[in-house]
Amino acid sequence: MRENYLLRCPACGRSFPDRYTLDCPSGCNALLRTVYAERRLTPKNLPGIFRYSDWLPVEGYLDIDAGPVSYESVGLAREFGLSNLTISFSGYWPERGGGMKTCSFKELEAQPTVLRLREKGAGVLQVSSAGNTGRAFCEVSGLTGAPIVVVVPTAAADRLWTTVPAENVCLITVDGDYFDSIAFGREVCSLPGIVPEGGAKNVARRDGMGTVMLDATLALGRLPDCYFQAVGSGTGGIAAWEAAERLVADGRFGSRLPALHLSQNLPFAPMVRAWEVGRQEIVPEVDMPDVEAAIARVSAGVLTNRHPPWGVRGGVYDALAASGGRMYAVSNDDARSAGRLFADTEEIDLDPAAAVAVASLSRAVEGGFIGPKERVLLNVTGGGYERAAEDLDRYPIEPFIRAAAGAAFEGDLRDAVSAWLAEQGVTVRA
Ligand SMILES: *Cc1c(COP(=O)(O)O)cnc(C)c1O
Ligand SMILES: [Zn+2]
Repeated sequence: MRENYLLRCPACGRSFPDRYTLDCPSGCNALLRTVYAERRLTPKNLPGIFRYSDWLPVEGYLDIDAGPVSYESVGLAREFGLSNLTISFSGYWPERGGGMKTCSFKELEAQPTVLRLREKGAGVLQVSSAGNTGRAFCEVSGLTGAPIVVVVPTAAADRLWTTVPAENVCLITVDGDYFDSIAFGREVCSLPGIVPEGGAKNVARRDGMGTVMLDATLALGRLPDCYFQAVGSGTGGIAAWEAAERLVADGRFGSRLPALHLSQNLPFAPMVRAWEVGRQEIVPEVDMPDVEAAIARVSAGVLTNRHPPWGVRGGVYDALAASGGRMYAVSNDDARSAGRLFADTEEIDLDPAAAVAVASLSRAVEGGFIGPKERVLLNVTGGGYERAAEDLDRYPIEPFIRAAAGAAFEGDLRDAVSAWLAEQGVTVRA
């Protein structure tokens, strides 16, 4: 093949070139995958994740030095009695080279997504998140000048900030909850030139997150035996599985897929519930009863996705099944003490979601689900907020438009976004 990668549908087997494609052209209910021409991974002398650009759906790179940092744990490993614990840290931790200034591994997704879109000439990205995802995309927009449209609930807008001025963000606040802003965001994508970021369907997001597995495996010299991560959508788990399959095919790092050990934060744990009964489908009444109350009670809000890519072909269920994985439901108390233990032993503060993963590792050790000599990879998906607050500037994102509750995307609202788009000088390839 002439392209350095193609997309492939795991359901019908079709392969085709990438046009920022999010779905199989034949309409299959499956997550498309990248198939790279390079079967062997050769790290490049490029910044951050672009070291692994052989296995990213991009041609060039961004000059952003913010990749995962993998190292052999001493303190936490001793605490858990593990002889081979590798920590892969995504966040801000300058002493170890951790350069993600918005403090979460969502930057691993944002960087290749922004570049892929630019290279494909597909238009302007639309994102609906005031959490780690929104912040990461705003930061990458600030660093690259790539225009993005962010739609969030008005009440959550102050959670968006960057560490450099982000002049090309069109922030639309919607009076109402997340559902309202997601629905409004969908409407905004009806404007020619604006495309949805795509979530788990976006191969750039998954392969960006997959660099954690690549980085840790190269640091270890071989694939780990097991992989621990806290999940909300589970996209990081799918990404770890896909990256591990590529490393197996590479041939130099072992032939066994690492078992995925994925965790959620009680009382919101729909994937754990479905996994426990071996169900490939999330049933809202059974798996997430009293959903709003449950979501309000978790300490790690980023783990509360109501529509995870669970049963879809190539989704989280398949990843767990293929790797012989396990799931954990972690209470707020256990997550908090695990977070404290991590800060004491490794000397960096954690995102509450990463603390959930540490607690699941503790549980796996206690329960004998992993052996003391296994090669364990702990994906610390976020942290270093305290360090970042000391060191870095913080720029709030100013709203561009405020939409009233229930407003339709038409008239003045539509005209304002069109005018912004024209100002960005965006030309859309047909
Ligand atoms: C988004 C997020 C997660 C969950 O990631 P998924 O793989 O998408 O479920 C975990 N930790 C942090 C810090 C996050 O921001
Ligand atoms: Zn298909």
